Amino acid sequence: MNFSNKLVSWYQNNKRDLPWRNTVNPYHIWLSEIILQQTRVLQGQPYYLAFLKVFPTIEDLANAPEDKVLKMWQGLGYYSRARNLHFTAKDIVNNFGGEFPKDYNKVLKLKGIGVYTAAAITSFAFDMPYAVVDGNVIRVLSRVFGVSIPFDTSAGKKEFQYLSQELLIEKEAAIYNQAIMEFGAIQCKPKSPNCSSCPMQDFCIAYTTNSVAELPVKSKKIKVKDRFIHYLFIEQEGDVFLGKRKSGIWTGLYEFPFLEFQIKLDEKQVMQSDEWSRIFLNSTFEVKSVSSEFIHILSHQKIHAQFWQIKATDLVLEKYELISKNSLFEFPVSRLTEKYFETIELT
Ligand code: SF4
Repeated sequence: MNFSNKLVSWYQNNKRDLPWRNTVNPYHIWLSEIILQQTRVLQGQPYYLAFLKVFPTIEDLANAPEDKVLKMWQGLGYYSRARNLHFTAKDIVNNFGGEFPKDYNKVLKLKGIGVYTAAAITSFAFDMPYAVVDGNVIRVLSRVFGVSIPFDTSAGKKEFQYLSQELLIEKEAAIYNQAIMEFGAIQCKPKSPNCSSCPMQDFCIAYTTNSVAELPVKSKKIKVKDRFIHYLFIEQEGDVFLGKRKSGIWTGLYEFPFLEFQIKLDEKQVMQSDEWSRIFLNSTFEVKSVSSEFIHILSHQKIHAQFWQIKATDLVLEKYELISKNSLFEFPVSRLTEKYFETIELT
């Protein structure tokens, strides 16, 4: 039996029962794929089920207000994915009669859908012969076939795409693609792969040459930038200042006014800064508390955040509106702000 057939046979005996495996509905598959780009299967499942409960059809998602979609997405991060999901749902309803196009190139042109997701949707839903290439697939192929070219270079991307397409069982594209991804997720795992019980053991180059830990190879190291942000939870007569973000990864989400610095400052230094004076000049305020530091890691950034609880009078902040404190938890916010909310009680 060759690699591809072994893979499918392994899958039939070992696959997990996941809700998106029991459907060929492209909307469900698309939704699951976008959620799973953000999170692990276990954490993703409740989001998937909740989304389908609130937006059972693509029309329901298209017709929903953006705030509601973002609120449902809250906690998953990368909110541009939720905004693209919403945009594309409207696009499909307005331009494709509410049906996902059964055409790889048309699917690929939809906003927020790249080569991987287009292959996943068209193969899982329509059994079309497009091989998926994600992190799991790259790991399996690089180990089994000893591919040591860095996967994050353009030559590496081409190589893995080519090899995947060559190995795809075209008449069983859906099952083959699911099999290789599942194999990477639970058998050929990044750390401690189950080599001792692996059906590929005899011909796996990484295993036979004792180089499992060295594969796959990555070239770039991402430089992580430290950011120091002080969020100001300012209460004024029972209301709180909140603004809707207009740019960046948190576009569309709500946030407190904030001060950002390049370096770590203590509370006294923050209150002596020009940025602080610009906000509180001519107003009366009292700092009630300052939270300890919350660390929030994004792909290129490490955010060090502190939340200040402040009572103020006569404060006017142009870019922010005053909302009732009791409705604060109804607004979609970043996972970072949500983590802070989990530590406080509104009184
Ligand atoms: S033998 Fe080990 S490294 Fe090779 S495919 Fe199996 S689990 Fe992966």
